[in-house]
Amino acid sequence: MGIPAVAIVGRPNIGKSTIFNRIIGDRVSIVDDKPGVTRDRIYGTGEWLNRKFHLIDTGGIEVGDEPLLVQMRHQAELAIDEADVIIFMVNGREGITAADEEVANLLFRSNKPIVLAVNKVDNFEMRELMYEFYSLGFGDPFPISGTHGLGLGDLLDKVLDLAPDKDDYEYNEEVIQFSLIGRPNVGKSSLTNAILGEERVIVSDIAGTTRDAIDTPFTRDGQEYVIIDTAGMRKRGKVYESTERYSVMRAQKAIERSNVVLVVIDGEEGIIEQDKRVAGLAHEAGKAIVLVVNKWDAVDKDDKTMKKMEEKIRKEFLFLDYAPIVFLSALTSKRLQTLLPVIKEVAESHRRRISTSVLNDVIVDAVAMNPTPTDKGQRLKINYATQVAIEPPTFVLFVNDPELLHFSYKRYLDNQIRRAFDFTGTPIHIVARQKN
Ligand code: GDP
Ligand code: GDP
Repeated sequence: MGIPAVAIVGRPNIGKSTIFNRIIGDRVSIVDDKPGVTRDRIYGTGEWLNRKFHLIDTGGIEVGDEPLLVQMRHQAELAIDEADVIIFMVNGREGITAADEEVANLLFRSNKPIVLAVNKVDNFEMRELMYEFYSLGFGDPFPISGTHGLGLGDLLDKVLDLAPDKDDYEYNEEVIQFSLIGRPNVGKSSLTNAILGEERVIVSDIAGTTRDAIDTPFTRDGQEYVIIDTAGMRKRGKVYESTERYSVMRAQKAIERSNVVLVVIDGEEGIIEQDKRVAGLAHEAGKAIVLVVNKWDAVDKDDKTMKKMEEKIRKEFLFLDYAPIVFLSALTSKRLQTLLPVIKEVAESHRRRISTSVLNDVIVDAVAMNPTPTDKGQRLKINYATQVAIEPPTFVLFVNDPELLHFSYKRYLDNQIRRAFDFTGTPIHIVARQKN
């Protein structure tokens, strides 16, 4: 789980997002046909020669209408705080500008490894443009071209060469790692404190896989848990930390390191668009999810209020139909004791393995009850199914033609699998493969 973070810093319009997209590519996570949320393209996971890394486009996090030099300073600070290696990008066609020098000064004073990339070097003849950039003092500049995809291999070789190996810090696989995500003020930090209760005193900062992640381990009823990147416990105050995109990026980082994600909603204020975006991130990442309706103490209730809220949530979060809903109050601790057992249950679902023979019995029954669809005179034929992964459970169906597995039939099979096995709280993925 511990993979290095790489940030791209540079002036506007020099090609940062072009390079970002080239590196991250359109590698969409395993088939997912439920309506999710568009990925925010400032943070992603890349892979080069079998090594994974996080990539952050700091240019995507703009702080208000500040002048260029101030923006550049924020970007550089963000990169220094969040990244293990920084790609400092300049425009080969424009030479060194005042803003480049500003960034260079800041980066120079940090202890972070810096790789200088000179973009828009679109052909070999243009390579001589690079020489002036030696004066920035970051050693050999790497010529690249976002438009033509040139030089990226050499650049990434160098970047990963400088990246620390972080694989040595991981929790035992029985430990349930969870995080709390949600928009500001829904009560994430209150809830964290309420969960930890008396054990708050032993809260310790354990250097996690990312320097700044604060992991809080605790044990309850014999089960070990770790709260990842506890909201509100970090030092605050940097300008960029108040931006929504930054909080989205932080949420993504926390989600990645979690088995279970608690999507916290404010029961008093109800659901807004931002809640759905945040929840979509957890869903897209394939994590086990619990929807937590906090501040239930502050809601005027009768015996139908909870049911009504539940219906509303189901309607708003269609793609999270598998996630259980827990109503509670971080303030009064009412119903708080129901939370950890649910976290444990969904974590177990997330790791559940179904044997191939039992799975195939379920598929055969499902097909007998509701025959496979036909298209252009051809009928989908499922030869057999097998579970190929956990976290989340992923099933491969070997079929005559994957195109024939339409959304609605896949959805039907998803439901049948859920009827037969307990997959509460976890997405499941179904993938069709051609059987030769
Ligand atoms: P950002 O603001 O730094 O993220 O820059 P963008 O990625 O949005 O790119 C700004 C402009 O530069 C766009 O018009 C790109 O098409 C162009 N661009 C990006 N990379 C290259 C390159 O390698 N060569 C040339 N000629 N243009 C590029
Ligand atoms: P965060 O930004 O999501 O970490 O939210 P906080 O934990 O800082 O809480 C935001 C505000 O909501 C604070 O004023 C809390 O006291 C209040 N709050 C948190 N949980 C509850 C709750 O269960 N009931 C009520 N009535 N208020 C709460």
